[in-house]
Amino acid sequence: MAIKTLEDLFHDTLKDIYFAERQILKALPKMAKAAASDDLKEAFLHHREETEGQVERLQQVFEIISKRAQGKTCESIKGILEEGEEIIDEFEGSPALDSGLIGAAQAVEHYEICRYNGLILWAGALDISNAGSLLSANLAEEVKADALLTKLGQQKVRTAKAAA
Ligand code: ZN
Ligand code: FE
Ligand code: FE
Ligand code: FE
Repeated sequence: MAIKTLEDLFHDTLKDIYFAERQILKALPKMAKAAASDDLKEAFLHHREETEGQVERLQQVFEIISKRAQGKTCESIKGILEEGEEIIDEFEGSPALDSGLIGAAQAVEHYEICRYNGLILWAGALDISNAGSLLSANLAEEVKADALLTKLGQQKVRTAKAAA
């Protein structure tokens, strides 16, 4: 087998985040449905909309590197999303449910943020700045989503505490 290159690493990681984004697209409506408060439901639904656009940007990045848009199973995101489902099952009806959902969602955002940071760095080294711009647009949305979740988390923990 040939020694793999930075191009291969970029392509493999692109497939990883493409798989992850499409799993997240399916998970966000479930998290919105499970959320107790309207502002958290809206945050999840809004990010689901953004995620649709993110998938499209990734398809454009595949085009830039002349590869077919194809995902590669990412066990990490599967595990992170499974934890979210556990929270939904185990904390149904609990005043701490939304705090748990926010924690689960931020684990997702942090996974995405580290993947995009790597891809953007490598796109720069590979001189594909148009790919870098598309990936940076996705990263900016993840960072913003994470910041909103932090803010909501600070509110929801008060609700959870008051009910305890
Ligand atoms: Zn919205
Ligand atoms: Fe995303
Ligand atoms: Fe992965
Ligand atoms: Fe995200």
